[in-house]
Amino acid sequence: MNPLESRLTADLQALDRRSLRRRLQTRAAGAPTVVEFAGRRLVNFASNDYLGLAGDARIAEALAGGAQRWGVGAGAAHLLGGHTLAHAAFEEALADFLGREAALLFSTGYLANLGLVGALAGRGDTVVEDRLDHASLIDGALLSRARLVRYSHADVKAAAQCMAVAKGRVLLASDGTFSMDGDLAPLPALAQAACTAGATLVIDDAHGFGVLGGGRGTVAHFGLGVQDVPALVVTFGKALGVFGAAVAGSRELIETLVNRARPYIYTTALPPAIAEALATALVIVRDEDWRRVRVAALVTRFREACGAVELTLGNSPTPIQPVMIGDSGHALAISQALADRGFYVPAIRPPTIPAGTARLRISLSAAHEEAQVEGLVAALAEVLHR
Ligand SMILES: *Cc1c(COP(=O)(O)O)cnc(C)c1O
Repeated sequence: MNPLESRLTADLQALDRRSLRRRLQTRAAGAPTVVEFAGRRLVNFASNDYLGLAGDARIAEALAGGAQRWGVGAGAAHLLGGHTLAHAAFEEALADFLGREAALLFSTGYLANLGLVGALAGRGDTVVEDRLDHASLIDGALLSRARLVRYSHADVKAAAQCMAVAKGRVLLASDGTFSMDGDLAPLPALAQAACTAGATLVIDDAHGFGVLGGGRGTVAHFGLGVQDVPALVVTFGKALGVFGAAVAGSRELIETLVNRARPYIYTTALPPAIAEALATALVIVRDEDWRRVRVAALVTRFREACGAVELTLGNSPTPIQPVMIGDSGHALAISQALADRGFYVPAIRPPTIPAGTARLRISLSAAHEEAQVEGLVAALAEVLHR
């Protein structure tokens, strides 16, 4: 083996010994709530398809129509001819839905966060973040060259203290709904603290958008608006079942991103067909309230069933329901035992979450059946109480 491969092999073996090695599993086609791995069909409790839209025929048709009309690729970056009527129409519809002046599409939520944080903070500035913020918000701060300060989870007092001593322009950035625990950020208090400190509040609502607040997300759920949360990130690979992301805010914010957000400027525009699929998905999210009602009922059903068999859950009102395990090896073994019983529930391990807090992350979807949820709880009880 050459020196590079020897070093990489040693690295991978070290991950293995700590039960932190990640391995790809290749999925064969399946129905929305069923996944097939290596010929084994499992009920899928790992997808972020909260509203059951990932397999929606109307969205697929819009995508196909868009590809017929525009071709598959955008052909260039937005500023170099890649920006089409399809992109513009969706951005306008999204801004309207969110009650904001404007919105700007990014290829992914990861890039939207890099672009937004980097456009609003730089050398000499401070980005204050919740310790459990998504990796892309953290990476956005690191890449911006601003000082990154992290406060303990959902601790508004700690956030306020960080902001009080912060230098330069100050950004306060948080997930709206936390991706691994499903709990909501204390947004009204965070907005108040940001206002007091003269900081700009940035909320990444990847998991609240589509699900909470009539689909408008965690900010709307709390009755807040653009004056409280001037910069809002929403993503489309989760509840919308599609792909992509956007930042929504004032016209000035969006114009600034067009000029300053490098992950917007230096990348090929999202395919216009995706924008057409998104326009259809957004109408469904707006109009089909029954999907939110259904997934909320399944969340209640799941939590009641867990209570009946004395399983302890986190404090999550959303379709993300974590079951805390602790040790990474144990979490992997439990995930495996659930797979043996027909359920796909991956173990979430560090560095996605803090050391010693490995867990099962169960996500529910409007497409699940009650019997699937009840079957999962029975399997969990059997595996965990063994
Ligand atoms: C999934 C996620 C992202 C990234 O969005 P993509 O469009 O998948 O890149 C960003 N923030 C949070 C909180 C997420 O959960």
